[in-house]
Amino acid sequence: MRADHRAGGTAADARSVTADGPPAPETGLLTPVTDDDGAPFWEYAARGELRVQTCTDCDEPRFPPRPCCPHCQSFTAHWQRTSGRGRIWSFVVPHPPLLPAYAAQAPYNTIVVELAEAPRIRLVGNLVAAADAALNSVDPAKLRIGAPVKAVFHRTPDGPTVPRWVLERP
Ligand SMILES: [Zn+2]
Repeated sequence: MRADHRAGGTAADARSVTADGPPAPETGLLTPVTDDDGAPFWEYAARGELRVQTCTDCDEPRFPPRPCCPHCQSFTAHWQRTSGRGRIWSFVVPHPPLLPAYAAQAPYNTIVVELAEAPRIRLVGNLVAAADAALNSVDPAKLRIGAPVKAVFHRTPDGPTVPRWVLERP
């Protein structure tokens, strides 16, 4: 009977029951909001490819994605596949006060990576031990400006697949 089923728990109750176990390390982390210009970036990331919007007329890569080339004003562009390799250009090690989900993993790192094929393109992300590892899975003492890194792709539970970074020489 329906009443019996409801007594067994609503959908919301079911979620709270599953939450009784250890929480997923990324519960509550923010996920990117996609837009039309950047949609291909996330679609390629979901396939494990790091691609950069590139002007078809002057061949200049650009980021973040936008309709017009800032160098030659062309509106013609394509998505150039990269090797996914780069170097740490800068980093920070956040400490509380932070949003609760981030405070739970602090200290972790946020890095800025310059891409090997397009050094003027710099992406913000996290250096992790593996694609699905926690934000604090790398000892902050291992962070070095200039360290070679490689993109890995992490499927977020509520948002797009996001590039993260691992050290080329852990
Ligand atoms: Zn151009």
